[in-house]
Amino acid sequence: MSYDHDNIFAKILREEIPCNKHDECDHTLAFFDITPQAQTHILVIPKGAYVDMADFSANASAEEQVAFIKAIGRAARLAGLDEGGYRIISNTGRDSHQEVPHLHMHILGGEPIGPLRAR
Ligand code: AMP
Repeated sequence: MSYDHDNIFAKILREEIPCNKHDECDHTLAFFDITPQAQTHILVIPKGAYVDMADFSANASAEEQVAFIKAIGRAARLAGLDEGGYRIISNTGRDSHQEVPHLHMHILGGEPIGPLRAR
């Protein structure tokens, strides 16, 4: 899939629409999800134009990939989630029900998150 420069997270990165920012570095931005699915729900995105984890893992530089992993851990730590724990999820492609076509990692925590899949 080619990258859609009009997706909502691209607009957030260009500051065309606001976000509730949590953390930022040269390569990443973390902000609070607009429709939280847990007491704490943070999204971490790379600043580069990557559709999903398949695209990012194949095409991002090593520096970007390291920065993304570090940003996920830092965002959780800054939110006070290390002690209680948290779940990270990145939906990729059609079968995952990915809605926004810019790579993002969900961080869910602040309460028990439940089983990995509803049964
Ligand atoms: P996914 O289904 O994995 O693509 O998740 C997309 C997520 O983006 C959802 O949890 C939405 O609530 C969230 N979202 C959509 N628009 C915004 C926005 N403007 N600011 C923050 N989160 C958003």
